[in-house]
Amino acid sequence: MVYNEIRKDYLLNRWVVIATERSRRPSDFARDAKEQIQNSVCPLCVGNEHMTPPAVLLYLKGNGEIKKEKDCDGVRCKNWLVRVIPNLFPAFAPPKETIDATRFVAEESCNCAIGHHEVLIESPKHDEDPADAEISQLKLLIKGYIDRLLELSIKPYVEYVSIFRNYGREAGASLSHAHSQIIATPFVPRIPAEEIAASKKFYQENQKCLFCEIIKRETGSPRIVFDNSFFSVLAPYASIHPLEFWILPKKHAASLLRLGEAEIEEFAKILKASLKALKDLVNDPPYNYGFHLSLNPSAEEYYHWHLEVYPRLSIWAGFEKNTGVYINTVKPETSAKELRKIIRL
Ligand SMILES: [Zn+2]
Ligand SMILES: [Zn+2]
Ligand SMILES: [Zn+2]
Repeated sequence: MVYNEIRKDYLLNRWVVIATERSRRPSDFARDAKEQIQNSVCPLCVGNEHMTPPAVLLYLKGNGEIKKEKDCDGVRCKNWLVRVIPNLFPAFAPPKETIDATRFVAEESCNCAIGHHEVLIESPKHDEDPADAEISQLKLLIKGYIDRLLELSIKPYVEYVSIFRNYGREAGASLSHAHSQIIATPFVPRIPAEEIAASKKFYQENQKCLFCEIIKRETGSPRIVFDNSFFSVLAPYASIHPLEFWILPKKHAASLLRLGEAEIEEFAKILKASLKALKDLVNDPPYNYGFHLSLNPSAEEYYHWHLEVYPRLSIWAGFEKNTGVYINTVKPETSAKELRKIIRL
């Protein structure tokens, strides 16, 4: 009898069973054919702007440069490259009057889901996929994330901004047009809160950032997918998904607010290359990705932003939902090896 290995996350009190005995190779997850989402009319396509609320941010094609705009006076701009709109069915909605919301939140007497819920339309091309997109377009996507993060994070009722992407119907994308979502909440959600607290504790005990340590310790390890002077892409030690990987910036920063032009370009290239590797390895799987960051100025020294990518290759059932303990049938070292073989930069 060979025991399965149990592993604990770098930061979270989260356990995973690496059940390689029922193991499959990552390529066994390859899907037969891509299931297309059918939308009769796509409200996110160029020409259908009137079907959505006015944009809160637009990147417009200018004379050789990109112009930043908003829709105003009932007019909807059409020559956009990136378009950010409020979600028609928001999970969190802005206060009617900011002053009221600030008071409500301060009094802790409001059960209202105050915040923002936005859709970032990543390209005028309906089928744009970051795995195949132009780097110039992906740079605009990242700049869009940063611009919205900047505007939302200074609102007095916003404590956290979650930036994420669902790709494929099984991963929760109800519209097939390339888009990300941005949700600003009046509290710090559980997973980032636990990560931030664990990093703070580590910093107090060791005077070091835990993520900088992870990057250092994982350098040259079998879990590294790609590594250069700007970023590390790695399959985390206690991955809970087959082919899960994280993109970690080498430069210490709590959020992506102050990313420079060169870093944005490098991030765009790495994001594209790693998503392309995933796409080619298992035939375009559904996935979710999300940023972890902190907006708290005091977290600047001990927290370190990163992107986590979760391919949807297994279905979580009773045990996972009931206990928060996961079973991963592919060793992170195997996931990293397969991705490493195929990644091109
Ligand atoms: Zn579309
Ligand atoms: Zn760090
Ligand atoms: Zn994280």
